[in-house]
Amino acid sequence: MLEGQVAVVTGASRGIGAAIAKRLAMDGALVIINYQGSQERAEQVKKEIEENGGKAALWQCNVADAAACQEMMDGVRKEYGAVDILVNNAGINRDGLLIAMTPEDFDQVVRTNLYGCFYCTKAAARGMIRKRSGRIINISSVSGVMGNAGQANYAASKAGIIGFTKTVARELAGRGVTVNAIAPGFIETDMTEKLSEEVRTAAAQQIPQKRFGKPEDIAAAVSFLASAEAGYITGQVLGVDGGMAM
Ligand code: NAP
Repeated sequence: MLEGQVAVVTGASRGIGAAIAKRLAMDGALVIINYQGSQERAEQVKKEIEENGGKAALWQCNVADAAACQEMMDGVRKEYGAVDILVNNAGINRDGLLIAMTPEDFDQVVRTNLYGCFYCTKAAARGMIRKRSGRIINISSVSGVMGNAGQANYAASKAGIIGFTKTVARELAGRGVTVNAIAPGFIETDMTEKLSEEVRTAAAQQIPQKRFGKPEDIAAAVSFLASAEAGYITGQVLGVDGGMAM
């Protein structure tokens, strides 16, 4: 269903991004696996896609670097013809209570999560506007919707992504480009594995379904928003969170 389309997934070497890359490749897209440091894991994702008959390529770049993002999108367009689907998934957390949060912790998280989303979207949008078609899917978080103690930096970056998504959706709606956000709840990845058992148990209690989600749950939502069937959906924030934010 995505045959002939090129998708760039940022932060696709691990976790949710890796699941999204595999799913979009299974749907027929040629997937560009962006990563920052985990080269071996990115290569493993590519290998798995190819073993399943899909198409993938690797692109190392730090999404917090504007010039590198521009270079990545220009390079993908040059080598593969277009960027039809962009999934802004790369993200980090540096959790801590506000009182103890350093400006560096705040800056690093906002730079990667929010600026990274801005840099990649801006660099990809021009080609989509020219083509009068495109899909931009930004990975926000339940923290950006509800707030979460210990995540002032992360929640600010993820709430910023929601405002950014709605604004860009309005700007590009007349150009055939849809822009949506997904707000995952707690998903089983390296990011949540770092949490103590106590925090994980308490977190699960806040979820109506009483369990964490899987990266594939997010990938399924991305697959739908990237599809032709989702052409009349734009500017939305889709919660994939076991009912946590409702
Ligand atoms: P993860 O397992 O920690 O993986 C993070 C990914 O982002 C890795 O592939 C990493 O690449 C990449 N990355 C980090 N900084 C980067 C940078 N500057 N440039 C390029 N890539 C970078 O995280 P995850 O749990 O899969 O989370 C993926 C997204 O979902 C994030 O935006 C996160 O905020 C969001 N999210 C996660 C949860 C959850 O419960 N897990 C909940 C809500 C939202 P390298 O390893 O190659 O550096």
